[in-house]
Amino acid sequence: MNNQEVWQIALGEIELSISKANFITWFKNTTILSIKDGKIIIGVPNGFTKEWLENKYNKIVFKALRNVINAVKEINYIISSSSEQEVKNKQKTKPIKKKEVILEVEERLDFKEPKNDEKTNLNPKYTFDSFVVASFNELAYAAGQSVIKDIGKVYNPFFVYGGVGIGKTHLIQAIGNEIIKNHQDKSITYLSSEKFCADLISSISNGSVEKFKQEYRKFDVLIIDDIQFLAGKEKTQEIFFHIFNSLYEKNKQIILTSDRAPKAIPTLEERLRSRFEGGMIADIGRPDFETRLVILKKKAQSLNIQLNDETFTYIASNIQKNIRELEGALNRVIAYIKLNNEIPNKKQLAKTLKTIISNPQKRTSYKKIAEAVAGFYDININDLINRSRKKEIVKPRQIAMYLMREELKSSYPAIGSKLGGRDHTTAIYGCEKIKKEIENDENLEQELGLIKERLYSGVI
Ligand code: ADP
Ligand code: MG
Repeated sequence: MNNQEVWQIALGEIELSISKANFITWFKNTTILSIKDGKIIIGVPNGFTKEWLENKYNKIVFKALRNVINAVKEINYIISSSSEQEVKNKQKTKPIKKKEVILEVEERLDFKEPKNDEKTNLNPKYTFDSFVVASFNELAYAAGQSVIKDIGKVYNPFFVYGGVGIGKTHLIQAIGNEIIKNHQDKSITYLSSEKFCADLISSISNGSVEKFKQEYRKFDVLIIDDIQFLAGKEKTQEIFFHIFNSLYEKNKQIILTSDRAPKAIPTLEERLRSRFEGGMIADIGRPDFETRLVILKKKAQSLNIQLNDETFTYIASNIQKNIRELEGALNRVIAYIKLNNEIPNKKQLAKTLKTIISNPQKRTSYKKIAEAVAGFYDININDLINRSRKKEIVKPRQIAMYLMREELKSSYPAIGSKLGGRDHTTAIYGCEKIKKEIENDENLEQELGLIKERLYSGVI
C-alpha cells in the first residue's frame, strides 16, 4: 500500500465520524507526505488547517490511521501546497451547502482562541473583563477576589461547583491569569483532573512517581478543574492527598472545581472530602433572564457585532440552560448575518436556533438511565440489578426506578422487571421514597438534575 492509499482509507473513516462540512473544510488538499518508523507526516494546505487538525482532529486522525497501520506512534502536520495533492483529493471535494457553511463559520468563531500559556497552561482568553457577575455567581466571584488578594491564606482550598457551562472554568482561569499578572514570580499551573490522572499513570509506569509529586509540590498556586473525575480512583486520590497536604501546609493556594459539592462525589476518600470542606465552597447557579441579556450583549460587543434588542431578547428568553449554549446561539446568529448580510427576523431566528431551543425530543431508555445513574454514583450497572442491600447501592437503584417512572412513564411492573426482576411493590416503594426525599433534600434534587444532564447531554 502506498501513502496515498493509506490516506484514502483513513479519510474514508474520518469522513464517517465528523460532519460533511467539516470533513470538506479541513481534509481537502491533505496528503500523507511520509510514513517512517511509526511517524506519519501529513501535508496540509495552510496554517489554519494545521492548527485545526492538531488541536481538534488529531485524535480522530490518529485512530483512523491506526486502523490502517498498527504501529502509528506520532503524527505531524506540515504546511505543503503541492498542487498534486489537490488533484489526488479532488474526488473528495464536493460543493458545500449553505447549511454546512453556517456550521463551519460557527466553529471558526469558536476557534478564535488564543493559545494556552506554555508555562501555566492558562488560557489568556479567560479574564475578569469578560466575566459577567450577577447574583448567580457573585459568591464564587467574591471569594475568588479574596483568593487573589490573599493567596493561600484566606480560602484554602477554594472549591467551586455547579452544572455544565456556567463558568467554573472561566472563573478559576481568570483567577490564575489575574494572579500571574500581579505576581510574575508565582508559579501557577492549571490542569484538568483527567490530565492529572493521566500524567500520574504514566509516571507510575515510568517509575517516576516521586518526581511527579515533587513537581506539584513546587507550585504556589495549583488549579485543578473537574475534580469529580477523581471519584473511584483510589491511587490517584492518595497521591493527590499527599500533594494537597504539602501545598496546604506551606500556605500554597489550591483551587478546585467540580460539577457537584464534595459530599455528593461518590467514593471520594473521607480525608479528601474533609480537606475540601475545610476551605471555601462556593456554588454557581444559573443566570436569570436579565443576566443572560447582559452576557449576550457583552459577547456581541467584544466580537464587534451589532444586533437589535429584539434579537437579544429572543435569544435570552429562549436559551436558558447555560452560558455555553447562549454563546452557541449567538454564534449561530452571527454566522447567519455574515452569510445573508441581514439581521434575521423572528421567523428566521427561530429557524436558525431551532436545534438549540427545541429540547430535541427527549429520548431515553432503561439502559441509558441505568448507565447514567451507575456512572454518576460510580457503581457497576449490575449492582442496580443484583440483590445487594448496601446503602450505596440501594439509593442509586431507587433513583433509577424513580427516573424510569418519571422519564419513561414506565409501569411499576416493568420497572421491577428491568431492575433484576423485582416485584412491582418494590418499584412503587423506591419511586415514592425518592419523590418524598427530593422535597426535603436539596442535594438530592441537585443530584437528580446532574444525572438528567448526563442523560440528555449526549454523554451517555
Ligand atoms: P464550566 O466550566 O462551568 O462548564 P465554562 O467556564 O467553560 O463553564 O463557561 C462556558 C462558556 O461561558 C465559556 O465560553 C465562558 O467564557 C462563558 N462564561 C461563563 N461564565 C461567564 C460569565 N459569568 N460571563 C461571561 N461569560 C461567561
Ligand atoms: Mg469547565
